[in-house]
Amino acid sequence: MKGNIQLDEIVKQEGRRTDGYVHYSIKADRSKFSIPVIIIKGDKEGPTLLVDGCTHGDEYEGCEAILQMAKRLETASFAGTFVGVPALNVDAFANITRSSPIDGFNLNRIFPGNYDTYITHRLARTYLDRVVANVDAVITFHGGGDVLHLEPLVGYLPEGEVGKKSRAMAEAFNVKYRWRMTDLPFTGVTAQSYREMGIPCILPEIGSHCGRLHDREKNVQICYEGINNVMIHLGMLDEKAPEPVKDPMDIELHYIHSVNGGIQTLCKKENEIVKEGEVLGVIHDYFGNEIETLKAPWPGVVIGFWSVPVIRSCDWWYLYAKILDKDETK
Ligand SMILES: [Zn+2]
Repeated sequence: MKGNIQLDEIVKQEGRRTDGYVHYSIKADRSKFSIPVIIIKGDKEGPTLLVDGCTHGDEYEGCEAILQMAKRLETASFAGTFVGVPALNVDAFANITRSSPIDGFNLNRIFPGNYDTYITHRLARTYLDRVVANVDAVITFHGGGDVLHLEPLVGYLPEGEVGKKSRAMAEAFNVKYRWRMTDLPFTGVTAQSYREMGIPCILPEIGSHCGRLHDREKNVQICYEGINNVMIHLGMLDEKAPEPVKDPMDIELHYIHSVNGGIQTLCKKENEIVKEGEVLGVIHDYFGNEIETLKAPWPGVVIGFWSVPVIRSCDWWYLYAKILDKDETK
């Protein structure tokens, strides 16, 4: 039976809800490196769903949705156990940075981690052994953070039984773009470790730098409804599933980098369908000279882009996707 997560410190226990910490090191000032965990037991037997946010410290939309869902589940009838980790890399969360301010590592590049080297590696390994190993399914939230815009999408790793379950969770999450993550240009990602452990997982990317002025609540709501939809799909909530989103699109997302730094202009915006060879973006230097033009390498759709006027050399410029046929999604 999953769901039996041992906390090192309990800060609040009320009704079916327990808030507390898993510790993984003591700092020089005697405070502790900790993972904050919310556990809510349902009133019926069922699966254990883990929902985490802030693997990257500046991606807060999932975090806020976890808190809203936890509040609701304190009194709602549901089956199984809800485990919320609102700020997995809590040091990065508090510092408003993508990576750890302690050792500089990007937590989502060093999974499965280890107990023998740096503090971020220790965080990853502790999380897998003490939290993830005790759950049946995971939603791991990401977003555009402080420098990217992106349209709401949900990623999943296909192939095998776990892949099928992950794909079904991605469909249930119910946003327009579903990203088959077979083309990841990096390793050490949480979802890859979860799959090796046989645990289905989806990786929604929701909310962005640009959207926080007017769309913060809307994006948190997309995260919240996505959790709700997955809980219905897993049989944890006895509710009617929503109407599937209109015209969902299966995609293979690519990160297109700039070569040079400078002042960048976005010639194509989110959701635009682009032909091969059309200009996506241009970079000028600070004398106004054009120094780089980016053309679409193949036909596709714009999912997101670097949203700050100045881009650094070789940074992510466009999140540009190939549109997949139905038979390419498995
Ligand atoms: Zn992220």
